[in-house]
Amino acid sequence: MTNDDGRRMPFRHSRFVILSSFVIRASSFLIFFPSMFPAGSRAGDNLGILGANPRWSVLEKYQGTITHDDFSRLIPNVYCTHGFAPDLIEINEKTARILMNRESQKFFTLRFAEDDTTRKPVPRLWRPAKTLPPAKADKPLVGLKIALDPGHLGGKWAKMEERWFQVDSSQPVQEGDLTLRVARLLAPRLRELGAKVSFIRNRNEPITAKRPDDFRELARKILIKNGVPQPRADVLDPNDPAKEQTIRWQSQILFYRYSEIRRRAALVNFKLHPDLVLCLHFNAEGWGDANNPTLTDTNHLHVLVNGSYLAEELEFDDERFEMIRRVLSRVYDEELPLADTIAVAIAHTTGLPPYQYPTTNSTTKVGSSGYVYARNLLATRLYRCPVVYCEPYVMNSKDVFARIQAGDYEGMRNVNGVERKSIFREYADSVADGLVQYYSKACCSRDR
Ligand SMILES: [Zn+2]
Repeated sequence: MTNDDGRRMPFRHSRFVILSSFVIRASSFLIFFPSMFPAGSRAGDNLGILGANPRWSVLEKYQGTITHDDFSRLIPNVYCTHGFAPDLIEINEKTARILMNRESQKFFTLRFAEDDTTRKPVPRLWRPAKTLPPAKADKPLVGLKIALDPGHLGGKWAKMEERWFQVDSSQPVQEGDLTLRVARLLAPRLRELGAKVSFIRNRNEPITAKRPDDFRELARKILIKNGVPQPRADVLDPNDPAKEQTIRWQSQILFYRYSEIRRRAALVNFKLHPDLVLCLHFNAEGWGDANNPTLTDTNHLHVLVNGSYLAEELEFDDERFEMIRRVLSRVYDEELPLADTIAVAIAHTTGLPPYQYPTTNSTTKVGSSGYVYARNLLATRLYRCPVVYCEPYVMNSKDVFARIQAGDYEGMRNVNGVERKSIFREYADSVADGLVQYYSKACCSRDR
């Protein structure tokens, strides 16, 4: 599940709509509390939650690296599919003018390459498949640096994250533990294939040093700014919709979503420098009461790449900057075919049908497989390399639930009437298959 997916769960939909506007508007509120900003922030800054001031000057190195046609294709078709205010990005024949900050009326001017032959090389730390060292038949992933990002935290945090449910007295289902299990099975497989593998998280603990209590003051101010003049400190009843208007609930989200994912991004961008991040998740349908969850017959698969920014997200200076940096790093050229190939490999193994989002409000279908969507999630936006975000299996489908209860095992076993691998191995093996297919094909066009 993505961190926003609680919102589309029907049983709680209406309440979550309120919260989502809370969180989005929270950013503009930050303007008034400069003491909470990282050093260097100024009045007039218009940043997303816990966002940093964009350093537009770093985009200078991308001058002349993209043609007008490529920029004009990626902006409307992949990244800004929901439109945007006209002053944010203005595409001219030789340049694009991008708003840095509305209050100060500062703009960044991007100069296009005249054509593909005179285009300057794109500066980047990650390596596209075709520039990797030559692959060997038994080591198709040789030289590839992959970082595994098992979604969520699991363990004692799973209930707080709302990634927990339990059927009667069975083993509780905690997404953060399931994803870590898959990552631990996937890592040795990828290493055998020649890849260098690192973990963004390898325990059921956060990597951020912050905890919810560190965000109580910020949470309180966010609530006041959003029309809750005297926010309550605590959640009294977990099923009470008003819990979202409590300091505790807001400070928990600031911790496990914003602080944690920004910390993971710092690890990826400043230390690991991978060629690819694989975000591993399990999906879910609305399960209602976590202690008496609804099990469903529905099961499906989809894979996400970054894109499909909402008009209101593009209003934030840091989000707009991060999007433009992503466009210019040409990460989409790599992550889309990768996502398509991985999705087809998972679908081939699992037989899962493509998930259809109930609305197109926040996603845009891309690619050729029918399984891949563009969506602006924190992780897909902030990790500065190709990011493939996998969402196979509905945890509270009857079949997946039975397979999770069966646990991990070697070989084949009859589970729910069918002979098959453990769900964790099936997941890991199918992702590895997709990577082998993609990088073996790409290796044929490797230059060296
Ligand atoms: Zn998830």
